[in-house]
Amino acid sequence: MSLNIDKIREQFPILKSEIYGKPLAYFDNAATTHKPQRVINRVNEVYETINSNIHRGVHYLSNQATLAYEEARNKTQAFINAKNSYEVIFTSGATAAINLLANSFGDTYINEGDEILISTMEHHSNIVPWQMMCKRKKAILKVIPINNDGDLVLEEFEKLLSPKTKLVAVTCVSNALGTVNPYEEIIVKAHANNSLVMLDASQAVQHLKVDVQELDTDFLVFSGHKIYGPTGTGVFYGKEKFLNEMEPWQGGGEMIKTVTFEETSYNELPFKFEAGTPNIAGAIGLGEAIDFVSELGVENIAAYEEDLLQYATDKFNTIDGMRIIGTAQKKASVISFLVKDIHPFDMGTMLDKMGLAVRTGHHCAQPIMAFYKIPGTLRASFAVYNTKEEIDRLVEGISKIAALFG
Ligand code: PLP
Repeated sequence: MSLNIDKIREQFPILKSEIYGKPLAYFDNAATTHKPQRVINRVNEVYETINSNIHRGVHYLSNQATLAYEEARNKTQAFINAKNSYEVIFTSGATAAINLLANSFGDTYINEGDEILISTMEHHSNIVPWQMMCKRKKAILKVIPINNDGDLVLEEFEKLLSPKTKLVAVTCVSNALGTVNPYEEIIVKAHANNSLVMLDASQAVQHLKVDVQELDTDFLVFSGHKIYGPTGTGVFYGKEKFLNEMEPWQGGGEMIKTVTFEETSYNELPFKFEAGTPNIAGAIGLGEAIDFVSELGVENIAAYEEDLLQYATDKFNTIDGMRIIGTAQKKASVISFLVKDIHPFDMGTMLDKMGLAVRTGHHCAQPIMAFYKIPGTLRASFAVYNTKEEIDRLVEGISKIAALFG
């Protein structure tokens, strides 16, 4: 089904903005997407009509808020096709989800000398929590290399798998390069090695169909705000068996069954991993965002964005002095680039004055920048509301600046 992009754009109030007198063209969607009116309304509605703390209340509002929160969990379960809704843990984002896993997994399964395998193209939030855990548990962090195109070197991945590899934690899609990794293959090979797998789907769920049962991934994380949902929301998925075995990360209210000063017994799933009052309105807003995406159809979004990416890549390649960083076989929605010797910050600032919002810098992926021996890039990342006309404006803006710099 082809999408009616004009109709979709109408649902995003911020897209009507003018920046320095120019219509906004927003290409920073890998950092965060904008929110459709229905998500904004849903969050407001929670505060206006059912605001209350959840799970512990006997009164009407608390029950309504609990129902809405748990409904959001059910929607998330259906969206990623988890077997059980209690395998979906709400967090404040992908970062919190990875920290949760690194701590709980580390405390439960990791001994001195064990290995965790990540890749060169991870976001810092899928590097640093593992480094911290490895330091604490005297474990070893190993890294799958990439090649010049920005693809993982799979032969090296296979060589790095060892009897000590307890977990392979990789991103589905690189936020800095746009590479779509062969995560299906990675899971099969890791499992054959008796290693578990965590997928960072922060740049995937908004662009590609992700089915945790079909993939057979053991863990998966993503952020709500990159999939048209509110900031401060995210998802940690884990297979029931491991969630039951793992120690909780954070202690506090909600995650307990009984507490004495001598001993505490933990609550059942998913509450064992949701200590304290969660972002109730945010999670409900995320449920609404998931409805928005599901109604459009992730496959339809993927087809539309693939066309946009191809169009933009072809146009970018006509610009004098253009260097696209990351030319993997399979990419999703991201073009990282440099033009001539122009500093990304200078170009980004000048594009901003034209109403063109791109991101500049290392994109929280400094090891990638070190690999390419560059300080950073400009990054244009696309969402379902971007258009070819906006890409034309971006290409024109980049070309003008490139010409200015001679
Ligand atoms: N993983 C990837 C691949 C990302 O792109 C990001 C954010 O850009 C994160 C993790 C961290 O997400 P958050 O800051 O929402 O926790």
